[in-house]
Amino acid sequence: MSNIPNVHQAEPIPPAARDAIDDLLQSGDLFRYTAPQDAPVTLLEQDFAEMLGSTYALAVSSCSAALFLALKAMDLPRDARVMIPGFTFGAVPSAVIHADCIPVLCEVGENYRINMADFEAKLDDVQAVIISHMRGHTSDMDAIMTLCNARDIPVVEDAAHSLGTTWHGQNIGTIGKIGCFSFQSYKMVNAGEGGIMVTDDADLIARAVIMSGAYEHNWKKHDVLQEAFAKWQNKLPLYNQRMSNLAAAVIRPQLPELARRIRDGRTNHDYMAAKLNASQWIQVPEKLAPEVRAPDSIQFNMVGMSEPEIRAFADASKARGISVQVFGLSADNARAFWNWDFLPEKFDLPQTRAMLMKACDVRMPVQLPREALDTIADILLASVEDVMGETRAYGT
Ligand SMILES: *Cc1c(COP(=O)(O)O)cnc(C)c1O
Repeated sequence: MSNIPNVHQAEPIPPAARDAIDDLLQSGDLFRYTAPQDAPVTLLEQDFAEMLGSTYALAVSSCSAALFLALKAMDLPRDARVMIPGFTFGAVPSAVIHADCIPVLCEVGENYRINMADFEAKLDDVQAVIISHMRGHTSDMDAIMTLCNARDIPVVEDAAHSLGTTWHGQNIGTIGKIGCFSFQSYKMVNAGEGGIMVTDDADLIARAVIMSGAYEHNWKKHDVLQEAFAKWQNKLPLYNQRMSNLAAAVIRPQLPELARRIRDGRTNHDYMAAKLNASQWIQVPEKLAPEVRAPDSIQFNMVGMSEPEIRAFADASKARGISVQVFGLSADNARAFWNWDFLPEKFDLPQTRAMLMKACDVRMPVQLPREALDTIADILLASVEDVMGETRAYGT
């Protein structure tokens, strides 16, 4: 077939970015702290904070850098234990280790959300929590915040892949103490690389700003209570994880596109979910009630199929031109916790492991037209039929 959709195709960057980049190339002003004011990175921070309803934002080189700086800003002692979900991207435990802390993994259920019983059972043993909204799936933030607030345990939200998701109408990333987002190419806003953190806490942002590389008095160019900075002068390491003006110039013109991308991504996801759920062998888990999603991919579980059958399904889809990643079955997958050999402590997570062995991942860039979605759905359904026989369209 020649009309197989390319699920790795990025959306073109809006033309306004070209003008902003032309200006930068002309002036050569690529470093965020050269201009006395209104550098593209500074303007991005102002736009982003306002968009999310946060007081402060700090743009950095990646979401991983934002997570690292978030932990450092909280001044956790060396070897502090930080809980993360057992289902996340390998960059998340890595950021914890980078911050001289120890990742503690908790179980994640079949619906890709944190198992609250395991979370609660491990909570008294940790000093901080990173809630990774993996693939944009939101765990029960009401229960998480109640449990953590009762113990005074700070919550960082890894909202790398959740830009535009809301919980009870509130933006994901603004519920915990600090929220971190990614501008890597496979996220809702694409700058190739980049990240940003948001918070309402002046002291936390002041510490993060300095450590991100606001050396000497460059912090004066941040729109933050200036007294918050003075006490940290020369007291903190400079990790130099700043964002370049070029990245900000690519990001800012995409922000007005966000509402459309979110709407199309959600419509496409729900359309695909309905088609796939018609198969008795496929189940797309329900979101939690307070969540409104902003997906640019779809995850689904294979039901009642053995490991060889699931492998055969993935192979059949690939042969037809759509690559299905089964998190636990693809070699060296960075989202399978047993591949994180670098962890200082190992965790046995049977529930998460069982989920990863049957959970499939298919990218769905938000700009895909209906016909492309139909082609993908047809391929997936035909591939499962290849392996399991006729799909019963109306269930039992
Ligand atoms: C992409 C992603 C990251 C890492 O973001 P970078 O900007 O590439 O460092 C972390 N967590 C989740 C859930 C992600 O999807």
